[in-house]
Amino acid sequence: MKIKSYAALAAGQALELYEYEAGALGAEEVEVEVEYCGVCHSDLSMIDNEWGISQFPTIAGHEVIGRVAALGEAAQTKGLKIGQRVGIGWTAKSCQHCDACINGEQVNCQQGSTPTILNHGGFAEKLRADWQWVIPLPESLDAASAGPLLCGGITVFKPLLMSNITATSRVGVIGIGGLGHIAIKILRAMGAEVVAFSSTPAKKQSILDMGADEVVNSRDPEALKALAGRFDLIISTVAVDLDWQPYFNALAPQGKFHTVGAVMKPFQVSAFDLIMGDKAITGSSTGSPGQLRSLLKLASRRDIAPKVEFFPMSKINDALDHVRAGKADFRVVLKADF
Ligand SMILES: [Zn+2]
Ligand SMILES: [Zn+2]
Repeated sequence: MKIKSYAALAAGQALELYEYEAGALGAEEVEVEVEYCGVCHSDLSMIDNEWGISQFPTIAGHEVIGRVAALGEAAQTKGLKIGQRVGIGWTAKSCQHCDACINGEQVNCQQGSTPTILNHGGFAEKLRADWQWVIPLPESLDAASAGPLLCGGITVFKPLLMSNITATSRVGVIGIGGLGHIAIKILRAMGAEVVAFSSTPAKKQSILDMGADEVVNSRDPEALKALAGRFDLIISTVAVDLDWQPYFNALAPQGKFHTVGAVMKPFQVSAFDLIMGDKAITGSSTGSPGQLRSLLKLASRRDIAPKVEFFPMSKINDALDHVRAGKADFRVVLKADF
């Protein structure tokens, strides 16, 4: 079985039309015909081999919406049907038998899970993943815009689950881009108080329209100072180093500062920032299949749709340049047109 894709043949190169031999479908695998695939910053990091784990050719793409095209022998009895609409996110495979997998924490598989990109990703006409990671899409969810929920969305949903966020919680979100804007929409749907920290004043009105109670200019030290002691949880989605101290100060007693942004520079925090008020600094990556299913159901029930702009997949290099230049209107989604 040959599959057409758009691949980077070497680090940092423009993608090229590339056909690969996928071999026989594994027993646990599901083959999905791609309809839409979101563009995440991790795709760029993998194409550029920023984390040193890429293998070339690299076929990125891990915010996939599509239809089940084939089911491996063992996957045939797992509730998925040919033609069913599904989503695939960051992870394609996990061992199914380690303690983490048995506990429903497959994203932290102790045998090492396989990312979708290293398994051949969704910038392609088809891709494959083990059945647990092929997430049924609720009927009423808008398929065209749902892709970013599978990576960007779950990445900001998981900290809300970890911190038991409820309607009485006060949450801050740093960086209102692809991930942050979905966080605002989810928190709004959950009824929590949500304050957005953005360095782009031009985005203020659209962030308020998404449901933020307040938008604070993150470049204004006085505005940050005024928020001391306010938040139960602050989620940082930015991948750049900031002056974090005002955000630590903005935590309420027992508050958590939680990063999902891959900041390369270590955080500097004094022991007293954590000791006084029982505070914590935490982090997480994406989510497990159960959490992905919960998020899609919530999104369907409460109309949580990422704000996206579309490119045909044949214009994928234009789309990647658009994201690299920071011009994305929150998130870019590619529509497959092979
Ligand atoms: Zn991603
Ligand atoms: Zn495992």
